[in-house]
Amino acid sequence: MSNTSLVKTKNKKVLLDEVRLTLELGEHGVHFDAEALKRLRGQDVVEDPYRREKTSLDFVLPHGINTSVKYARWTPYSIVIDGGKPVLLHDEQPVGELAFEIPEKHPELEQVLGSGVKVRSLLSIDPHGQVNVGFSDECALKDNGEDCLFCSYNVRERDPSRPAIKSAVQIAEAYDIVRRAGMANHFKISGGFVPERRELESYIDIVEAIREKHSKFSGVAVIGAPADLSILAKYKEAGYTDISHNLEVWDKDLFGFVCPGKARRNGGWQHWVDSLVASVEIFGKGHVHSNFVGGLDSKEPFLDGIEFLSSRGIVAHFGVFRPEKGTPFEGHRSPSAAHHWEILDRATDIQIRYGFTVEQMYRGPGSGDHTGRVFRIKTGDFQGDKIELYQFPSID
Ligand code: SF4
Repeated sequence: MSNTSLVKTKNKKVLLDEVRLTLELGEHGVHFDAEALKRLRGQDVVEDPYRREKTSLDFVLPHGINTSVKYARWTPYSIVIDGGKPVLLHDEQPVGELAFEIPEKHPELEQVLGSGVKVRSLLSIDPHGQVNVGFSDECALKDNGEDCLFCSYNVRERDPSRPAIKSAVQIAEAYDIVRRAGMANHFKISGGFVPERRELESYIDIVEAIREKHSKFSGVAVIGAPADLSILAKYKEAGYTDISHNLEVWDKDLFGFVCPGKARRNGGWQHWVDSLVASVEIFGKGHVHSNFVGGLDSKEPFLDGIEFLSSRGIVAHFGVFRPEKGTPFEGHRSPSAAHHWEILDRATDIQIRYGFTVEQMYRGPGSGDHTGRVFRIKTGDFQGDKIELYQFPSID
């Protein structure tokens, strides 16, 4: 092996170890003095009492891997300030210096549309350069008590300035503003179920309204499997390049238990899988996605699911199960960091074997970076011993 490949292999291990560290931090939490960090960062440690059980802190580890870790009083991990710099310790031993990311400011989000609604009430821009639209402000599955057990969509505090349902014209106008500012290299629309599945037609109206202004477009519609599969082709014709049906759990029986509303609608688990497979015929390999809550399924069946989906050209995405406040899973525990690492490591090996691309790993339902950055590290998409945040390539 040449010296260059030896260095690359060594750096690959350094970066993968840093990803593993995020899982350990996720399991154990980190101790810090919020007041001292506030003075250092010039901003508060953000508390989000409606989503998480505990305060959490976002930071970037020494080799560029970012993470969000909850506060814990008793944990082997702590952050201290040394010489004016934040340093992570493990069992009192330094791991390395941390960085705090200052979120990029996007003045375009403050623009007010003719209807009086601010752009930021209609969409957001994520650090990968993707525009996200959350179409509805709540999920209609709650009407029958059929919410997915892990999901906090219906128990979060609402932003009163956000319209409960957004119109196609408004979204296209807001998209046009951020696209002309050089963003929106990818578009994602998702949201809960809307009564009578009205979201299915609305998402098509939205992409048509956008494409009246921009013929070049890249975007994913995250929808529940439609009862009538013929609508899938209409999504492609209207302009979506990608589609996602989020199964959340792979095991058929667990799907009925964890996602009772999804399982009772549209023919259940088998129909959802059939719709994913049918979508590949229309959108192509790597353009069909499904999201999972990593850690709810048992390990081997879950990996069998990843193998099955990958073999059909479907990109499976997952993150780490974190029990949310106010949901039936509040107070439950996620599996160990070792468990999460094993599924992450083996799942990405499978996805590399089936020849997906880095971009396909990010074009899906939203948790792309969890698997995407491991995929990038394993395929050598980094410089030296650092990895930058993934950015969607420009479509203009
Ligand atoms: S369908 Fe989506 S929004 Fe509705 S409860 Fe399930 S995960 Fe949450």
